[in-house]
Amino acid sequence: MNYDLLIRNATLVDGTGAPPRTGGVAISGDRIELAGELNGARGRIEIDANGKVLAPGFIDVHTHDDRLLLSDPAMLPKLLQGVTTVVTGNCGISLAPSPPSAPPPLDLLDDSGTWYRFDTFDAYAAALADARPATNCVALVGHSTLRVRAMDRLDRAASAAEIAAMRAELDAALGAGATGMSAGPYYAPAAAASTEELIEVARPLAAHRGIFTIHMRNEHDGVLVSIDETLAIGRALGVPVVISHHKVAGQKSHGRSVETLAKIAAAMRAQPVALDCYPYCASSTVLIAEGVRYASRVIVTWSRSHPECSGLDLKVAAERLGLPVEQAIAALQPAGAVYFVMDEADVQRILAFGATMIGSDGLPHDPHPHPRLWGTFPRVLGHYARDLALFSLETAVHKMTGLSAARFGLADRGVIRPGAIADLVIFDAATVHDSANFEHPTRAPLGIDTVIVAGQLAVAGGKATGAREGRLITGRVRVDDPAWAG
Ligand SMILES: [Zn+2]
Repeated sequence: MNYDLLIRNATLVDGTGAPPRTGGVAISGDRIELAGELNGARGRIEIDANGKVLAPGFIDVHTHDDRLLLSDPAMLPKLLQGVTTVVTGNCGISLAPSPPSAPPPLDLLDDSGTWYRFDTFDAYAAALADARPATNCVALVGHSTLRVRAMDRLDRAASAAEIAAMRAELDAALGAGATGMSAGPYYAPAAAASTEELIEVARPLAAHRGIFTIHMRNEHDGVLVSIDETLAIGRALGVPVVISHHKVAGQKSHGRSVETLAKIAAAMRAQPVALDCYPYCASSTVLIAEGVRYASRVIVTWSRSHPECSGLDLKVAAERLGLPVEQAIAALQPAGAVYFVMDEADVQRILAFGATMIGSDGLPHDPHPHPRLWGTFPRVLGHYARDLALFSLETAVHKMTGLSAARFGLADRGVIRPGAIADLVIFDAATVHDSANFEHPTRAPLGIDTVIVAGQLAVAGGKATGAREGRLITGRVRVDDPAWAG
């Protein structure tokens, strides 16, 4: 039997968390036909992966790539890390269905406003199909986006009519291929939304087997209360909830991941709960005084009024502007920042927690972005799994593949087995390394030489080939899966 593509002699890490074994895969079209023993099979193209790891393509469960997929469909920051699928529309912010304006933090996706041009989710899905991005997309609809669309002012709870309008739009989007709804009550556009509003807007999720993700209202002093709110939303809707980029921020909260993870572990026995994390001690989002207050150091990632300040420490930027820090924050607006607010021990505890998936939360349009955009996946594999031995290689891969696909209900993804879609990555476990740092945040990683999307070589020899096989994937969650209990 002749196959389109054959990969031999690899260290197979199949995404399930099972220990590595020696073997390969045979691919026809976009599917894996053989996995493990190849029994003399031949391929039109053959790759000898001797000494390298063959794993499922990584799934970045937390991104803001809604527009990057359209404006830079090569998707290099993700593809070169071995990411083959991105989950978009997080933190309440999605490009579709587009609102008439983009107040912060919606401007993280588009500071000009011109990309907010999709009146329906269908129109966005059609644009994705036209753009043919290099990675797959799993799309969430943002509650804040729906709010800006439905409401004349955002500093109050939504009325019954406004809730009905948002709910109808979510229902239509889920019917057109969206996988769930994200919420971001931490941010101004949704801060006035009650728990009840979040539940009532998200009602259609259950019928569509959609997922609910949330950038919680409070990730510092009030983090335990926010976890309770998240769990209550999940129970009221009967759907899985994802605690996005879980952290305990601010010095006063350092160490409290012991409590938050105990609470999450207990809740998992009663309802489906998931969480994701990025492997850094600093967060990043729009520049706001509230965020600066909790941080030991702040770096300006962009400023529309003072673009010359991007990449500078906020203190240095304030000196250059000749202003006290508080006034500099106002003068730099609209702007983004990196905030050093987490403790390394908490980051490691959360990363190592069994149910934690890996998501980058990268901000692709920032001129001086947080290095998580280019470094998240190799940093988990190299720094945390290999160098610090925080967990095994197969656990690291599981957290970025099989676990993520199961949680988001992505059929035939995230695992290497016959019948699965051939989204794959080959990397050198001994050398894989994140090169991006806070000073040089857009450096490509090392040690990841081959990436395959839907059976086609998207990266070969560490370079993008130009193949663009990504598509919109719709996840349908399985609430009754016993794996939810951890
Ligand atoms: Zn967020």
